[in-house]
Amino acid sequence: MSLEFHREFSLTGMNTLGFEVTAERFVRIQTQEQVSELHAELKRSGDPLLLLGGGSNLVLSARIPGIVAQMDLRGCEVEELEGASVRVTLGGGEHWHGAVSSLLEQGIYGLENLALIPGSVGAAPVQNIGAYGVEVKDRIDAVQVYDWQQERIYWLDNCECEFAYRDSRFKRESGRYLILRVRFLLSRIAATVTTYAPLQARLSTEEQQDPRAVFRTVCDIRREKLPDPERLGNAGSFFKNPVVDGATYERIKAAYPDLVAYPDIAGFKLAAGWLIDRCGWKGRKMASVGVHDQQALVLVNLGDGDRSQLEKLATAIQADILETYGVVLEPEPRFYP
Ligand SMILES: Cc1cc2nc3c(=O)[nH]c(=O)nc-3n(C[C@H](O)[C@H](O)[C@H](O)COP(=O)(O)OP(=O)(O)OC[C@H]3O[C@@H](n4cnc5c(N)ncnc54)[C@H](O)[C@@H]3O)c2cc1C
Repeated sequence: MSLEFHREFSLTGMNTLGFEVTAERFVRIQTQEQVSELHAELKRSGDPLLLLGGGSNLVLSARIPGIVAQMDLRGCEVEELEGASVRVTLGGGEHWHGAVSSLLEQGIYGLENLALIPGSVGAAPVQNIGAYGVEVKDRIDAVQVYDWQQERIYWLDNCECEFAYRDSRFKRESGRYLILRVRFLLSRIAATVTTYAPLQARLSTEEQQDPRAVFRTVCDIRREKLPDPERLGNAGSFFKNPVVDGATYERIKAAYPDLVAYPDIAGFKLAAGWLIDRCGWKGRKMASVGVHDQQALVLVNLGDGDRSQLEKLATAIQADILETYGVVLEPEPRFYP
């Protein structure tokens, strides 16, 4: 099956911020063979390339020059290992939440805390998605990539992916890799993680051992806490939680005793939502974008917002946070181009 390019293709329904976006050329990658074909076309045309999954971690301009390629490679292989371990290989184009719930139905555990995160399997390692005490790196065995530089397909093991908080080799070397498949190491035996206080508070002692209860509760909390992109355009948490050293933490804590922060290997992770909320940003609007009225970490499209409006709002918040606390806020989504 050869690649089918669409010209002036609308991506408005394909980015969760709901911005009006048009791609100069758009193509779906459905087979491994099509990757070489796409590479040949990129070399021929000299066009820039944007890889797209579900568009839930991207802030796009109105027009995307060159080619937008959506990863649509499907598939799920389950391999039973010794003991109760299970190796699961998923195509990069699989829907993340669909895969998490399908594995749970098959009695394969380990991804339940990451339920309802929008997007694709292939994008999950890019920013090492995380929620409710689990990061995807904790479950990844290896990632299969096409390396645009070396023009070959190979597997990177967990260490080689250089995962960190909302970060990975794929994010740092953006443009080098296309993620084709992700291999997870999961289990038939439930080993739930319920250390995250708001999750634990909702679960009885019995439910804390039950991955299905964890899955359900994570979904409930997320539906209550986060705006549904179908109704109100957003890209989830807009800023990373800044990690600061002990001295900085003590300085801020002295001025703001109610500061929300968690110990981290590198010092303390400050709750970015708390920092923004404390500066009075919750519910504020700027042109057609704003800060969600219940969740200060989420920036929303109020109707006909666009990238430049969102950029202005994000910059104003960053400047305020720097002036107030002396802390740099880093956006989580990628701005493109
Ligand atoms: C309501 C909401 C809630 C969210 N909650 C969370 C959360 O709890 N935790 C969390 O970590 N994130 C969260 N996110 C962010 C987002 O869902 C994740 O980052 C997700 O993994 C992005 O997947 P995607 O397929 O939409 O990627 P896209 O937004 O399409 O792409 C993201 C990046 O990955 C690259 N990319 C995409 N596919 C591939 C591929 N196959 N190979 C190489 N690069 C690729 C893109 O070029 C881009 O740089 C949330 C977002 C929303 C809208």
